[in-house]
Order: sequence, then C-alpha cells, then structure tokens
Amino acid sequence: MPLLTSDILVIGGGIAGLSAAAALSRDAHVRVLEAEEQIGFHSSGRSATMLHYALGDRLVRALTLASRPFFDEPPSDFADVPVGREMPVLVYARDDERGELDVLGSELAGFAHLERLDGVAVSQLCPLLKEDARHGLADHRGIRLDPHALLQGFLRQLRGSGGQFHSKSRVAKIEHRATWSVSTEEGDEFQAPIVINAAGAWGDSVARLAGVQPIGLQPKRRTIITFDGPAGTKLEELPFAKTVHDELYFAPESGRLFASPMDEIPADPCDAQPDDYEVALAAFRMEERTTVKVERIHSKWAGLRTFAPDRHPVCGFEGQAEGFFWLVGQGGFGLQTSPAMAEIVSALITKSRWPVADVQPEDLSPDRFHG
Ligand SMILES: Cc1cc2nc3c(=O)[nH]c(=O)nc-3n(C[C@H](O)[C@H](O)[C@H](O)COP(=O)(O)OP(=O)(O)OC[C@H]3O[C@@H](n4cnc5c(N)ncnc54)[C@H](O)[C@@H]3O)c2cc1C
Repeated sequence: MPLLTSDILVIGGGIAGLSAAAALSRDAHVRVLEAEEQIGFHSSGRSATMLHYALGDRLVRALTLASRPFFDEPPSDFADVPVGREMPVLVYARDDERGELDVLGSELAGFAHLERLDGVAVSQLCPLLKEDARHGLADHRGIRLDPHALLQGFLRQLRGSGGQFHSKSRVAKIEHRATWSVSTEEGDEFQAPIVINAAGAWGDSVARLAGVQPIGLQPKRRTIITFDGPAGTKLEELPFAKTVHDELYFAPESGRLFASPMDEIPADPCDAQPDDYEVALAAFRMEERTTVKVERIHSKWAGLRTFAPDRHPVCGFEGQAEGFFWLVGQGGFGLQTSPAMAEIVSALITKSRWPVADVQPEDLSPDRFHG
C-alpha cells in the first residue's frame, strides 16, 4: 500500500477513538487505525452499558452531565436505531450502610433528580431485593446505552466527513521526524502531524512505541454474568440496581438478568477473560443481596477498565512530544462521557471554544503526570 497521509491519525477505534475522530473530521482529514477486525472488540463492546451518576466523582459526573444532551437527542443522521433508553437506577443500602447512602445522595444532588426511598418503595421498584435493603436512592432517568449503535454512529459520521477507518491495522512502530510516521504489523505506512493515542488498555504501550513517557495506566478486569430471572418477574420493568458500596450491580439483559461483583483486578492489556472466582462471586453476591437463585450461568464475559493514577481521564497534548495527543484513562465511564470528551478533544486540537464549563483543560492534561 502507498504511504497514506492525513491531518490526524487516531490509534484505537473503541468508543474514545471513534467519537473523537467523528468530531475532528468536521474540520480535518482523520484516519483511525484499529488493531482488531471487529469494532468494539475490547472494552467498548464489553461494558454494562449504563449512564448513571453513581460512577466516578465530581469530574466524571460533570463530563457525564455534559454528554447527556447527545444521548437524549443524537444528531438526526447519527443512527437508525435509538442510542439508549431510559432505565431507572436504584442505589440501595442496609441499615448499616445508610450513612454512605446519605453521602452519595448529597454528592449526586447537583447531577440527577433523586428520589429518597424507604424499604417499601425500594421493594416496589426492585422486588428482587432482600428485605434488608431498607434505604434507596432512585434516579428515574438513568440511560441504558446501546454501544453498538454509538460506535456505528460515530463511524458513520467519520466516513460521512471523508475520514477513514482501517481495521486489522495494529500499530507496531511510531517515529517522529518532521511529522509522525506510523507503521502497522501488516506493513502499511501512515503519516500525520498529529497522532492521538486512544488505545485504551494499551495506551502506555503505544506511548512507549512513540518514545513518550508512559502515564502509569492500570487496566483492571471486571466480570459480568447473565442468568435467568425468577419465573413470573417482569424483568423489563426492573431498574439497574447497585449496592451503595461497590459490591454488586444487576439489571435486566435481553430477557435475563446480568450481574457484576464489581471486581477491579489489575491486569496486563489483553483480550480479558472471566476468571472462575469472580464468576462465582457474582453469583454468590446476587444470592446474598437478592432472593434470586442463580441456577445456571447463561453467559459470562470480562473486560478491562483502564485508569490513570488519579482515576480521571487523560486528554491533551503531550508536552514533551510535539503533536502527540493522549486520550486514555476512561476507566468505567468511557461510554457515558464519550460525547463530551470528543468535543473536548476537538476544542483542544482545533483551538475552538471550550465545551464543558465545569471541567478545565488542566483537569484532564497529561502534564499532571509528566510536569
Ligand atoms: C465490565 C465493564 C463494565 C463497564 N460499564 C460501563 C458503563 O456502564 N458505562 C460506561 O460509560 N462505561 C462502562 N465501562 C467502561 C467503558 O467500556 C470504557 O471506559 C470504554 O469502552 C473505553 O473505551 P476505549 O475506546 O478507551 O477502549 P477500547 O474499547 O478498549 O478501545 C481501544 C482500542 O485500541 C485498540 N488498540 C490497542 N492497541 C492498538 C495498536 N497498537 N494499534 C491499533 N489499535 C490498537 C484496541 O484494539 C481497542 O479496540 C465498562 C467497562 C467494562 C469492562
């Protein structure tokens, strides 16, 4: 293949890379290089697919709130199917956990309209919980996202603006002379003045290839199982239900239930596979906190949630390598923050108006690690 040039090369075609590429392609010629053949093969296709405000901290919540209008009303040509549907979110607590529920309630107050629930109301919203779930916070406007629709929508936007997506293009070599030269394992060569590192769990590996100091990203494995719900339960009416501690969440999933023990097991970047222990833990916690018997596990999967040391996303130009841009560290909130993050990437690269008033460039800058 001849040398392929563009204004911007994005390494990694998950939700981070694709959403940013779509936004940037309004003003620039963008190419996305994705190692896998299948779109969303890694974290972006393995998530719990929720938008809710119990995830992360103030900064993550601000990015989520800023993303919400996109999910509520995506551009008319974005996708043929809805990118999400509203689903109530219930965070519940036993008597001994009530204090933490109070703290969470005050932290979330600026982001969601919360309803405080007593034991009766908790059980009405989620009849599967045991009676000791006597306290709850409900946000009736959580969103169950459709990651496939989102990925395809961003891809469509990219292509519609003249950009290209190159699958089966694993970047193996990155050099900077007057511009960035990038080669893939398959032997294809690309050049661009700006390279965006959106390689998810591989973010530090891609930085090393470019001779850029890594950030200290830590991928952490999380496991999900699916199983049958109790006969006679209207599963589709259930909320996304989560313990106030990060112990268990569950929700309806295509006529069954899914659950996660909210594990965070440090891992190297890889095609993450569920471990027997976390699979058993998911079933155990489901039976501990609910009246459901997990008779048979229908399916299971694991994915990596990759965190920067301060658990905030990293987005901005690397001070020590001209034209090298970081877009990593989306942890467990990369889907629900992707529209706002994409606009932030676009604002930083095209030097246009900053899009999220409650977040500042220095909150996200790689300079906080590299000084
Ligand atoms: C179990 C689980 C539950 C989650 N629940 C939620 C949730 O409810 N809500 C939410 O918002 N988020 C959730 N997340 C987090 C969300 O999935 C991630 O934050 C998000 O997918 C990260 O997107 P990404 O594009 O950075 O990573 P990825 O989707 O992993 O994309 C990175 C891409 O880079 C590619 N790549 C790597 N190296 C190279 C290379 N050398 N050359 C070319 N390409 C390369 C990879 O193949 C990969 O496709 C969850 C994650 C998991 C695992």
